[in-house]
Amino acid sequence: MRPLRDLISIEDLDPSQVLAVLDTAEQLLPIADRRRNSVPTLRGKVVCNLFLEDSTRTRISFDLAAKRLSAEVINFSAKGSSVSKGESFKDTALTLDAMGVDCVVVRSGSSGAPLQLSRYLEVPILNAGDGWHQHPTQALLDVFTMRRHLGELAGRHVVVVGDVLHSRVARSEVQALKLLGARVTLVSPPTLLPPSVASWGVEVAGELDAVLPDADVVYLLRVQRERMHRAFFPTSREYARVWGVDERRLALLPEHAIVMHPGPMNRGVEITADVADSDRAVIVEQVTNGIAVRMACLYLLLSGDADATEGSA
Ligand code: ASP
Repeated sequence: MRPLRDLISIEDLDPSQVLAVLDTAEQLLPIADRRRNSVPTLRGKVVCNLFLEDSTRTRISFDLAAKRLSAEVINFSAKGSSVSKGESFKDTALTLDAMGVDCVVVRSGSSGAPLQLSRYLEVPILNAGDGWHQHPTQALLDVFTMRRHLGELAGRHVVVVGDVLHSRVARSEVQALKLLGARVTLVSPPTLLPPSVASWGVEVAGELDAVLPDADVVYLLRVQRERMHRAFFPTSREYARVWGVDERRLALLPEHAIVMHPGPMNRGVEITADVADSDRAVIVEQVTNGIAVRMACLYLLLSGDADATEGSA
């Protein structure tokens, strides 16, 4: 396998690298799942979480992932740092470099910020979500979760529903699924479908009911109100009626099919509370798996080829 240098976009990966992350995460899952336990794999390494945009799950997940591998963690958010005093991105990067961090996990509202950072710093950069562009670890934890439920993903059918336009998750997700040979159908309000989808190699369907009976996974995207500066659909009620998944739509899925969402959910809009809490939804499991997948990414970026679970107690 070609070694990973940074993790900025799924587009930079080949299938063997995706599989290496998934297989390593599989090895690490028992440790990710085990409270108050760690392995010494990254002892002595310093991981900086540079979060310039809000995050709950991803920030905590990276924090836990690094700690379970015994790395030291510096949490750096825009609020309370010199970034809020107007310090430039370059100066922030140079400061981190001077402090001797070994890896930077970066979340930013600006598409391209992690790539920019990788030009200033020699250490590995891990994209934790940049603008509308990419969210590679979300896609990796999602395909990891799918593979645990469905086995190999080649030939599987994943229906991605909702706000594709503003979703970095959708971009990363489609690329990861295609690398693993899955078939993807997008179902979205026409106003929330980017013109570039024509080149994504996916099918586009107008009606959710028509594609659900043939789906192995239905993946619901959050309606990203914070990125909408005009009306893209009439009302939330209308959205829920046409593009939301409720109990009636859940019943259209094959029995083995699972329901996924990257969180945070708008209950009552893209998913009803009944569906979110049903045993077909694996949304909480995605969060747990996220720790193992982020441990795998940190491990592959930061260590040599020692066993990822070496020294496990
Ligand atoms: N948490 C994911 C992200 O940061 C999905 C979302 O916010 O809709 O992109």
